[in-house]
Order: sequence, then C-alpha cells, then structure tokens
Amino acid sequence: MKKIILSIIAVIGLLFSISSIMYKAVAADFISIGTGGPTGVYFVVGNSVCRMVHKEAAEGRKSGRKHGLRCAAPSTGGSNYNIGQIKAGELQFGVAQSDWQYHAYNGTSKWKGKQYKKLRAVFSVHPEPFQLIAGKSSGIKSWDDLKGKVVNIGNPGSGQRGTMEVLMKAKGTSVSDFKQATELTSSEQVGALCDGKVDAIAYTVGVPNGAIGQAIDGCGAHFVNLNSKTEKKLVNDNPFYAFANIPAGTFYKSQKSDAVTFGVMASFVSSSDVSDGVVYEVVRAVFENLDDFKKLHPAFKNLDPKNMIKNGLSAPLHNGAKKYYKEKGWM
Ligand code: GLU
Repeated sequence: MKKIILSIIAVIGLLFSISSIMYKAVAADFISIGTGGPTGVYFVVGNSVCRMVHKEAAEGRKSGRKHGLRCAAPSTGGSNYNIGQIKAGELQFGVAQSDWQYHAYNGTSKWKGKQYKKLRAVFSVHPEPFQLIAGKSSGIKSWDDLKGKVVNIGNPGSGQRGTMEVLMKAKGTSVSDFKQATELTSSEQVGALCDGKVDAIAYTVGVPNGAIGQAIDGCGAHFVNLNSKTEKKLVNDNPFYAFANIPAGTFYKSQKSDAVTFGVMASFVSSSDVSDGVVYEVVRAVFENLDDFKKLHPAFKNLDPKNMIKNGLSAPLHNGAKKYYKEKGWM
C-alpha cells in the first residue's frame, strides 16, 4: 500500500514538473507588442510585425529554419503605457514616440525619478506629426483660441497626452484655462469632436489616419497650425522634434490649407531583458519582408532600412537588432 501511495506521489510530482517545463517553453516563445488605440497606426505596426513573424515561422517550418515565436499585438493606451509595461516585464516590445523613448531612457520630463536604463531601441517606423484639430463650429483658429473651450488632452499613458502637456507648459497654458479638459482615448475623441461634445482634440499619429480623415472629411474639422516661436524653440532645443507639414488636399480631401506643426518618429522598442535571440528573429522577420510590410499601411510607404536603424532612436540599439544590422552590412 505504502509503495502504491509513494509511486502515485512520484507520478504526480513528475506530471507537475513536466507541465512547468512545458509552460516555460510556451511562455518563452510568446511575445506581446504594445500598440495604441484600435483606430491608430501603432495598432497596424504591431499587428504587421506579428504577421511577418508568423510568416517567417510558417516558411521556416517548410525550410527547417524554425524560430518558434508566437506574437500578439493588443490595443493599449499608447507610448508611455507601453514603455511602462515593458519595464514591468508585462510586454516584450512596444511602439513609442521618439520623445518618450528619449525621456524614459534619460529619466527626464514625465520619466523623472523613474529612469528606465534597460530600454532598448529596435528600429524606427513612420513620422508622427502632433496634430491639433478643432471642430467645425468651435471658432478655434489658433492655440490662444483654446481658452474657455472643451479640449481633449488625451488619455493618460498616450504619447499625445505627454506631448500636449509639454506644449501646454511651454505655452504657459494650464488646464484651468480651458472650460474643461477631457481625457478621451484616441478612438473615442473623433466621435466627441464630431458630436460637438469637445471643441478640439490632440493626436500624435502617422499620416494618413482614418480617424483624422473622419474628422476632417466627415465632419468639417480643421487643423490648427503649431509653428509659433514656442514650437520653434521646442524643435531647436530637442533632438527628437522636427517640423512637419501635412499638405492641403493630399491625404484629406477637404483640407483647405497646409497644416504646419511639429512632430516625432514612431519607434519600436524593447528591453535588454528580452533575449538577443528573440529580438534578432523579430527584426529579421520585419526586414526580410519589408516590401510586404510597407504595403500594410500608407504611412509605411517611405520606410527605408537606412533611416529605420538610425532616425528617432535615443536609447541604445538592442544587441539582437545590432547583430542583424551588422550581418546585413548596414552598420
Ligand atoms: N502616438 C500615439 C501614442 O503614443 C499613438 C498613435 C497611434 O496609435 O498610431 O500614444
């Protein structure tokens, strides 16, 4: 009897250790990429990366070159949320504005006292102008007109929320200057603008973007230029900002005049805690299939490896990414 009980215990123990080994193997192969709202471009970036990873996995199975990675890219709160979750070990990769990549790595601005030295750059993606958009009957033509209006400053964790706060500080504007400051997400704000519930919205996003199109072409909203001496100083003082122009009638049919504003780059980031092997395979999947990748969103049209491994990257490049770029002779 004793023998039977002992062997049952041994079998249970064995099953436990097998299942924990299996769990580890599965968990190690699964990567999550933080994106942004479902109507943004980050969501397309993350899901396009996963598509390339899975394509390489399928082709690798045929040719005997297996990487075994499974990938998911859920919608999230945006840049600062993604970096925070990478820091917490909940996400392995994320898309983030180049300004927030810089601040998180250097422990400046919103990241003061929370510096994240293990943040790693992988590559940059498309340019993202910071866009201030006013509703049709809001009467807003310039920044100063925001006074006394309902302004959506963005959800906490989004890149636009952070950049809006930086701009407000530089302009000497506080939330109490507005009638109300709302915190709607990127996917909620256009509906609120078109319904007249908010007078203006802010969004750092690639061009073109369907939600912006809905605001401009669908309900007569317009861009507000951001090119005064305040923005000129921001661009001059910070390596991660550049002026950007959204030409009239090009991406949005009803846009009457060019929009001049400043912007950042979208970047793909990770952590030095994520293994070189995993980062190498993700980077390889993207760059071996870059022509397919570029077709997945019009904002990716001008992607060029030479710029992607250099522009908008202020954290050190991840070693797994470097390995691939060196093999290609790009570094
Ligand atoms: N730039 C935005 C952010 O950092 C996201 C834009 C997008 O989803 O494409 O939150």
